[in-house]
Amino acid sequence: MLAYTYVDRGRFELRKKPRPEIRDGKDAIVRVTLGSICTSDLHIKHGSVPRAVKGVTVGHEMVGVVEETGSEVKNVKPGDRVTVNVETFCGECYFCKHGYVNNCTDPDGGWALGCRIDGGQAEYVRVPHADTGLNRIPDGVSDEQALFVGDVLATGFWAARISEITEEDSVLIIGAGPTGICTLLCVMLKRPKRIMVCERSEERRRFVREHYPDVLVVEPERCREFVLANSDHGGADVVLEVAGTEETFRMAWECARPNAVVTIVALYDRPQVLPLPDMYGKNLTFKTGGVDGCDCAEVLRLIAEGKIDTTPLITHRFPLRDIEEAYRVFEERLDGVIKVAVEGGR
Ligand SMILES: [Zn+2]
Ligand SMILES: [Zn+2]
Repeated sequence: MLAYTYVDRGRFELRKKPRPEIRDGKDAIVRVTLGSICTSDLHIKHGSVPRAVKGVTVGHEMVGVVEETGSEVKNVKPGDRVTVNVETFCGECYFCKHGYVNNCTDPDGGWALGCRIDGGQAEYVRVPHADTGLNRIPDGVSDEQALFVGDVLATGFWAARISEITEEDSVLIIGAGPTGICTLLCVMLKRPKRIMVCERSEERRRFVREHYPDVLVVEPERCREFVLANSDHGGADVVLEVAGTEETFRMAWECARPNAVVTIVALYDRPQVLPLPDMYGKNLTFKTGGVDGCDCAEVLRLIAEGKIDTTPLITHRFPLRDIEEAYRVFEERLDGVIKVAVEGGR
C-alpha cells in the first residue's frame, strides 16, 4: 500500500509498505477513506517532535472503515465507518479513568499514531486499543463532516470544556487557523456574551467574518485596546491562545482581566517566558495543552444534530498519490487553504 513516510529531518516520502496486520487482540485495521494534514505533521517534518520515529507513516487525522478487528475488540466491527482518535488510550489506567487520556500510561498511550507508530496518511492504518480509539460515525454524518473529530475538533472541544466559560463572559480566541476555528465553534456552544478572535492573516479574518458574523474580529496590532473596549472588567474573562508564537503568548495574559482563565492550546517551537513580576496581582489561572481527546462520541452527536459544522474548513482535496502537493499547499498556505482533505488510496 502507499504510505507517506517520515524519512529524515525535512523529508517525507510516499513509499510502498506492506498492509498493516493485527498484532494484538485490541487492535483494529482501518481502511482510510479520508485523511488530513495537521500542523503537528509539519512539526515532525521539521524535526521539532523529538519522539517521532524515522520511517514511521505520518498522519493522525482520519476517518475510515473498519476492515478487521482483534479478538478482544467489542465496540466496533468490520464494515463500521469510524473516526480515529489522535490519542491511543487504554481506558483503564489512573489518567484514563479521570478523563486525562493524553497522559495514558500504556506504552502506546498518548499521541502515538503517525508519530511513534504508523499513522493514517496511507491506505490502511493499525489502531491499537480500538475500543477507545475508534468512534462509530452516525448514519447521516459524512466523512467530510467527521474528518476533524479525532484531532483538531477534539482539541477545540477540550479547550472550550476546560476554560470555565459562562454566559456573562467576553472570550478572546487568539489565532484563527484550523484549530482556532474549531475552538471558536466549540466556544460558541457555551453561548458567552461576546467572542473576539484575533488573527494576523487578513484572509483568515475574512473567513471568520463571513462564516460567523456575530464574532468580533481584530488584528494583533489593535488587539489589546479592542479587548479592553469590548469587555466589562478590564480584559477578557477567558483567553484561549491557539496561535503559538512568543507574541501571542504574551498577548494572551496581557489581554486577560484579573482572575481570568488563560487556556494555552497552542504547541510552541520554543520555551515561553512567564514574567511573574509583571503579572503579580493579576491572579491568573493558566491551563495548558495537550488535548484529552475523550469526547469524540459527544462531538459526533453534536455534528449529527447540526450544532457543529467544520466542513467549511476543507478548502482543498487531493488523492493520496498527490499528497506531496497537498503538503506544499498546506505548508505554504497557498490559495486560501485552511485544511486539505486527502482521499484514501482505493
Ligand atoms: Zn494534529
Ligand atoms: Zn490509560
